[in-house]
Amino acid sequence: MDSGDVMLKAHLLFIGGDIPAMAKMTGHAGHTHYHGCRFCMIHRGFQERRMTFPPQLKEIQQQTEDDLDLTVTGRHDCRRPKPVIRRAHTYRTVDKYLRQNKVCPFAEFPTFHSATFFPINIMHLLRPGIGKQLWSIIQGTYGTDNCPLYLPNATQELIGARIAASRNLTPSSFSGDCGDLSFQSAKDGISCLQNAVKYWIKWLEDQVNSENISPAVFTINQHYLTHLCKTIEQLEDDYWNDDDDNKEDNDIVRKGSKMDEIFLPDNPDSPEIWGPFAEDTIQSLRCRGALGHFWAWRNETYEGISIDPDQIIETGSKLYNKDKNTYGGTTRESLIRMYIYVDVSKTKKQSVIERRQRQYFGEIKYFFKHGYVLQGKLCDKILAFVELYKLNRGNGPWPYKTENGGKRRVVVEASDIIGFEGYTKGMDTREYIYWSQKNTHTKKELPIDYRLEYIPK
Ligand SMILES: [Zn+2]
Repeated sequence: MDSGDVMLKAHLLFIGGDIPAMAKMTGHAGHTHYHGCRFCMIHRGFQERRMTFPPQLKEIQQQTEDDLDLTVTGRHDCRRPKPVIRRAHTYRTVDKYLRQNKVCPFAEFPTFHSATFFPINIMHLLRPGIGKQLWSIIQGTYGTDNCPLYLPNATQELIGARIAASRNLTPSSFSGDCGDLSFQSAKDGISCLQNAVKYWIKWLEDQVNSENISPAVFTINQHYLTHLCKTIEQLEDDYWNDDDDNKEDNDIVRKGSKMDEIFLPDNPDSPEIWGPFAEDTIQSLRCRGALGHFWAWRNETYEGISIDPDQIIETGSKLYNKDKNTYGGTTRESLIRMYIYVDVSKTKKQSVIERRQRQYFGEIKYFFKHGYVLQGKLCDKILAFVELYKLNRGNGPWPYKTENGGKRRVVVEASDIIGFEGYTKGMDTREYIYWSQKNTHTKKELPIDYRLEYIPK
């Protein structure tokens, strides 16, 4: 940069935090008050000395904000209106009735989108919030005699012991099937979640009405569940909006998570290597032999291929690939499946080469960019240094490796990576490899080179 100053445009899209922090930032009194929800105008109830937020009954769902003063406090009764989602302007003025004690300082921002600007804190989400409460229902906190989910102490302890014992059977990764959730299929996920929430709240309500479960079960966490889908939808819209008007803004959000990147400047679709970065010689990075094989394969001969062991290369731990996945960084995201071109000719004659793709599995060590002059022309590639596993055929569809099964290190192109793989340890010494089979009916899978017989030593 020559001119010195760089102008950056930043947009505040959401604000999150725990309950006291949210109360401060929204200017709202918080969940212990009569209008205890920062998303909507629900009136809280009071059961067994606890604040409750029971769902509304169907027949009065058509009511509006103006009908609010018809409601009665406290008990879960049919005069309660359907809670109205608060609109942006209600955060801009002090309203003692709504417990909007102060003007929300963020409500004037052009990016402010009302209630969903304040996403639900992790403490109220499925695992720590709802999961914990589900366990409370099982433990009998909301009734024991008729509660259909109540389990006696001995059974609870047995479940705990069984979960602990099953730990090594739990697959380490479902990435193969979940990897694209954050990018494309969130809409399906939302409608599935929406139905699940509706079903769960309705079921609880039936149990409460039949006096099987105490009405105290309708805590603020249960109520926040009903706002969860809207909040996620808003997050998704702001992050992954493909609208051209917002293109510039999206790039800011999307690339915000990394400091720098390595890519091929002459290729607009180039994969990008992301940090953390490191620098070392080819010798110390132990990729000299594999890099030699890689260029010889492209050169169609080993003649004239020589890799300088003292050349310093910059490596990165993550790769943002064309399939919009980010590989590397953690163990889970480093286990990958690859389609690699190899020579499958059975003859030993060097002049006979039969180029075919075979399927391989292994673990990413690092990514780097490397250039080599082939036939008088500099050729740049984004590469991955990978440890391939030797595998055995399993009885089912999944191959397995054993602890001393053997590995071989290779250099592959970023485009050879086709997805994540999962990994799970059986009760014996077998370590099973599995992957998403979502598309197998449309495309025949390539044969697996189990023993790495086509990979040069
Ligand atoms: Zn609410």
